[in-house]
Amino acid sequence: MPLATLIRRSSLPCPEVSAEQAEQLLAQHYQLSGALKELGSQQDRNFLVDAGTQRYVLKICHGDYSAVELEAQHAALGHLASHCAVNVPGVVRAINGEQLLSLELGGNRVHVRLLEFIDGQALSHLRHLPMDVVVGLGELCAQVDRSLAAFEHPGLERILQWDPRHAQALIKHLLPIISNEDERACIAEAAEQAQRRLMPLIAALPLQTVHLDITEYNVVWSRESATQWRLQGLIDFGDLVTTWRIADLSGTCAALLHHAEGDPLYILPAIRAYHAINPLQLEELQALWPLIIARSAVLVLSSEQQAAVEPDNTYIQANIASEWGIFDVATSVPIALMEAAILACVGMEPMATEAAPVYQPLLPSLAGREFRQVDLGVLSEHFVAGNWQHSGIDEQLLKQASRETGQASSRFGEYRLSRTLIDSAKEPETFALHVELHLATQAPLHAPFAGTLRLTADAALLLVGEQMSLRLWGATLELTPGASVAAGDMIGQGSGSLVLQLCAVPELSPPLFATPAWAGAWRQLCPSPAALLGFDCDAPALPDAAQLLARRDASFARSQKHYYQAPPQIERGWRNHLIDMQGRSYLDMLNNVAVLGHGHPRMAAEAARQWSLLNTNSRFHYAAIAEFSERLLKLAPEGFDRVFMVNSGSEANDLAIRLAWAYSGGRDMLSVLEAYHGWSVATDAISTSIADNPQALSTRPEWVHPVTAPNTYRGEFRGVDSAPQYVRSVDQVLEQLALQQRQVAGFICEPVYGNAGGISLPAGYLQQVYQKVRAQGGVCIADEVQVGYGRLGHYFWGFEEQGVVPDIITMAKGMGNGHPLGVVITRREIAEALEAEGYFFSSAGGSPVSCRIGMAVLDVMEEEKLWENAAVVGDYFKARLQDLVDVHPLVGAVHGSGFYLGLELVRNRQTLEPATEETTYLCDRLRELSIFMQPTGDYLNILKIKPPMCTTRQSVDFFVDSVSKVLAELE
Ligand code: PMP
Repeated sequence: MPLATLIRRSSLPCPEVSAEQAEQLLAQHYQLSGALKELGSQQDRNFLVDAGTQRYVLKICHGDYSAVELEAQHAALGHLASHCAVNVPGVVRAINGEQLLSLELGGNRVHVRLLEFIDGQALSHLRHLPMDVVVGLGELCAQVDRSLAAFEHPGLERILQWDPRHAQALIKHLLPIISNEDERACIAEAAEQAQRRLMPLIAALPLQTVHLDITEYNVVWSRESATQWRLQGLIDFGDLVTTWRIADLSGTCAALLHHAEGDPLYILPAIRAYHAINPLQLEELQALWPLIIARSAVLVLSSEQQAAVEPDNTYIQANIASEWGIFDVATSVPIALMEAAILACVGMEPMATEAAPVYQPLLPSLAGREFRQVDLGVLSEHFVAGNWQHSGIDEQLLKQASRETGQASSRFGEYRLSRTLIDSAKEPETFALHVELHLATQAPLHAPFAGTLRLTADAALLLVGEQMSLRLWGATLELTPGASVAAGDMIGQGSGSLVLQLCAVPELSPPLFATPAWAGAWRQLCPSPAALLGFDCDAPALPDAAQLLARRDASFARSQKHYYQAPPQIERGWRNHLIDMQGRSYLDMLNNVAVLGHGHPRMAAEAARQWSLLNTNSRFHYAAIAEFSERLLKLAPEGFDRVFMVNSGSEANDLAIRLAWAYSGGRDMLSVLEAYHGWSVATDAISTSIADNPQALSTRPEWVHPVTAPNTYRGEFRGVDSAPQYVRSVDQVLEQLALQQRQVAGFICEPVYGNAGGISLPAGYLQQVYQKVRAQGGVCIADEVQVGYGRLGHYFWGFEEQGVVPDIITMAKGMGNGHPLGVVITRREIAEALEAEGYFFSSAGGSPVSCRIGMAVLDVMEEEKLWENAAVVGDYFKARLQDLVDVHPLVGAVHGSGFYLGLELVRNRQTLEPATEETTYLCDRLRELSIFMQPTGDYLNILKIKPPMCTTRQSVDFFVDSVSKVLAELE
């Protein structure tokens, strides 16, 4: 009687075997000795045997299991070893030549065998499994199933509690073990729903031998690198059985849910990977989620029951919470929805059973009238300057449109901008699964199909038909609830706002909005109401971001990289967030150029106004150029009295080099190693950051003389007092040039060391270097392109931190908030030296539009107190990052100040080994958590933190908490 066997087996405790007994067994039957360590197991007694040169696992199981079942496992191990690339343990024969020993031990019958140990570790301890591990588990499962499809053994026709064919019987039997009534009802209900979905599929499910426990506990990995794992093999064939093929993948997926952080879609990559190797039938894919639910219920009940039998088994106790977690995720979504998601992930659709239904019009009195379609999507022209954040904005826009035409409509399947969330790791529910109408006058509503009328708890009128339900919010019901209506019957009245939603699974109550990840699956269940409205109310499909990227790659020269392998398409920004086409907001911690934040209305207005008046070049006479030049000079230290206007940082630095050449009469430039100053021929020549140009060090022209990078954290000399040592490198170059009687042209550096993540230069460094360079007739250039203009919080210019004044200041990036704008600020005698080489002219440099924008940036910075914000929120930011040093061993140091910060990750705080790979992982994970962040530095191990200067404390908290969360995953 199967159930009786099942029940007896499900309550078997582990056989009692002491370490001494195990040692004796090993000596007597295998002539082996070694150190023993007990391994956790639910129903077997397992010991790891370390025999010096080799390691084994001694497995002792209950005599209740018949020998033929264990022989089947051994045969399967042999089969896989010869037919499949997956590594499995070999079975070690006892000295009597047997693979399996059936013995009496302490009065109990037990089976004993010895297996080879596969080196590596299980990843069950990892809360977050990297995506390639998830995919790897799906692939492994597929490979094993493919191979075992041809394997048969009489020992596999066995009764096993994990065999999903017995799940319902087992659940029913074990249910009373749950004492909490609600929990019990919850499991019973879930199991019943799963069974209902499974029943019609069972006949079509193929049977074969399966491992049935390909989970993170039984798959062994070795660490390939800091963030990558290599699959070493599969162990524990204790659940091997002949059952539905899909049972194997359902077990793997159920286990993965433990790592899913509440997201059922987490398992889709594993399913896709499985299907690619071992294609599944439609019915198997449809059975998958119900089987996962059943498995999760069995897991919970078995553990609860086992815990009751063995209250001291800590292994079982620890599992209970995690199994409830799996059950919660498995029951968090409707089965029909998850089925749609699973089918979509492998590119399948359910077979259409009936022809598309024909509907009667919902609003026949408005047939043929124009419904104004209101664009509420991310690119809608109705949305400016963050107005989408005003509560009720969508309704207001619909109402406004209905005033003009009598009736207006939102669009079905539109990703609504008003639903975006900032500083949230979660995808926002932006996808509209409904249509909202706005009717200026009252109109009668008619039943589009036959059904029963009801009122829902949230005041919707609900028409339930045989294959479809319709919900209407804002309608007045003119019939009594419970009434049956025929298609075309009048059911009520609508006026003002009317929200309607169809659902092809009549008993479901879908949400009005879905997240982008769930949009496709929900759309399968909630068809567009276009057919009953009589007009096309669907939002146009979004452009395919991947296709667009392919077009970019096919036309835009490849050396111009993009962030991320599969970047989201970003077409809108607001303040310190960037918004993708599906309405997801990403925290922008990268855009040092957009100092004021994105989408600033003042910028748009300023550009539009000036463009409509005039845009020309600086050879014409207009007010803006004088006004802007004066304002820039006011920002510079005393003595600076001349401005050049160009269009970028590269141009500004290039011009600065030419000025140094012209003024000094020399050509030789000193520049700091590992820095970046631009892409033009001259600025590229002085740039030696190998992260930007791997050949940088070997390709310098003879006029460029790099000096040691004054990195006080990991440079040749450490600490804030290291200036004298670093200055020595400058001395050497200057001495050499003097010896060769070459005239020094100048020295250029960022006054705060940008490539290293914003490290302050050692105290006194620039004072000494400037003095020495000037003493030899050279000019000192401060490249303020990144660090200047108040970003550092407590200094407007970076050179202030060093207490020096340069001869030339170059600035670009933030001064135009993204508009191409660069300047060189200097003294008259230096500016005039260039005249010997002719005139200087830049066609767009200093144009009226550029000047107006440049001034507007300064106005906004003042009005919105952005410099103050950089100081106050920047200090808070640095303090919060600093706290991470105490919590996470990977955090080596925090550099910088204000909104120019660097978080340096190291594997070892003594050797400072850069944690490059971990930094890449961190940045990729942060993107999954809605944050844009990139690495910097020659080892790409520093987070380059330089957000718009309107960044808030809330955003800082979100960022630091997310970084901390991901760092914990790496530890
Ligand atoms: N100097 C520094 C310090 C920079 O960071 C950059 C740009 N990353 C430049 C100069 C060049 O500026 P642009 O890209 O505007 O030419």
